[in-house]
Amino acid sequence: MSSYREDFPIFKGSDVIYFDNAATSQRPRQVIEAMRSFNDSCNANPLRGLYDWSVRTTDAYEAARHAVAHFIGAERDCEIVFTRNTTESINLVAYSWGLANLHAGDEIVLTVSEHHSNILPWQMCARRTGARLVYMECEKDGTLPASEYESKITDRTKLVAVAEVSNVLGAVNPIREIADVAHRKGAVVLVDGAQSTPHMPVDVKALGADFYALSGHKMLGPMGIGALYGRIALLEEMQPFLTGGEMIETVTRESATFAPVPEKFEAGTVNAMGAVGLSAAIDYLNGVGFDTIMRKERDLTGLLLDRMRKMPEVTVYGSEDPAKHCGIVTFNIEGCHPHDVASVLDSEHICIRAGHHCAQPLMKYLGVSSTARASLYFYNTEEEVERFADALTKVRGWLGYGA
Ligand code: PMP
Repeated sequence: MSSYREDFPIFKGSDVIYFDNAATSQRPRQVIEAMRSFNDSCNANPLRGLYDWSVRTTDAYEAARHAVAHFIGAERDCEIVFTRNTTESINLVAYSWGLANLHAGDEIVLTVSEHHSNILPWQMCARRTGARLVYMECEKDGTLPASEYESKITDRTKLVAVAEVSNVLGAVNPIREIADVAHRKGAVVLVDGAQSTPHMPVDVKALGADFYALSGHKMLGPMGIGALYGRIALLEEMQPFLTGGEMIETVTRESATFAPVPEKFEAGTVNAMGAVGLSAAIDYLNGVGFDTIMRKERDLTGLLLDRMRKMPEVTVYGSEDPAKHCGIVTFNIEGCHPHDVASVLDSEHICIRAGHHCAQPLMKYLGVSSTARASLYFYNTEEEVERFADALTKVRGWLGYGA
């Protein structure tokens, strides 16, 4: 039994097996308590207030910004812009940087395994600027061969937008190597960190990321808070994505001047309580330590893969090596629709994901329309993996296909 598990109120007295952590992770009481304490002690509108509660809210919000900066190795706190989630972070870059810097004939390089959140904003930019999308192909297990980024990133490339970890295969992309090639060609690198920040230490400088996007709700934090890291020189050049209150210096009837970064990108009242929760989530992750997190995920994934390999009707996608899954195990059961698999498992109190996982180009590349996905986190247990695997052996029978 994982001792961390006791920190998560949702598991108390519950027999639910939660294997949908790649979609949203659960929250420890430390995160909930940090938010409650903020709520009960100083909640007020931040940034502009001249009274104690507002000042304390502002301080808490800025402390959270510092925590995020430190967590991902940003040099300066002002390089962190709070957003709602990874999707909004990427859209901010697409609208503010992409539309201003991409032109007809330029190329945006992605991988075929990107989440729709890191495809659609670039399709929008391509449509509006005349730039072209170029896809790097991965191997079937998700590995991105060096020949792909060495050949597809060229002098025409202006942006390389790539996930650090695939939400379907769990494969880790060689960001540093990709960024080196991109920077040699003068391109900017955006990294989608939605699936990496929960599972591994991140250092945006060491990775060579110019932009880095993350979501709080996937890394023990609340929903509705995310962040964008941007290299200061890039952020300073960019026009705001949203405009309104809190992001201005002066406003006349006809025009406005904008506040410095990061306020320039944080129009309207910000999600201070979400930021406090994210900061507490970061403290919690650091307390557990990524060595422990990675070891636990590898062990649980290894156990699950061993059990699944003994089921001839089950196809597992991704690497043979449990260390190359980041806890994500995507699979299909012969003859069964993934939605039926997920529904029948739900009746056993097992939560998994089924569908295209917002990665339809990858589904097409894998030759499937959808898959089932179990995604594990460090608070899951061997007992849960065994119970899940036992249930998997019965799915075909439950669905009327015979055992
Ligand atoms: N990118 C990846 C790789 C993801 O897995 C997800 C969430 N499934 C996103 C982006 C989008 O995250 P959010 O919904 O928090 O914006």
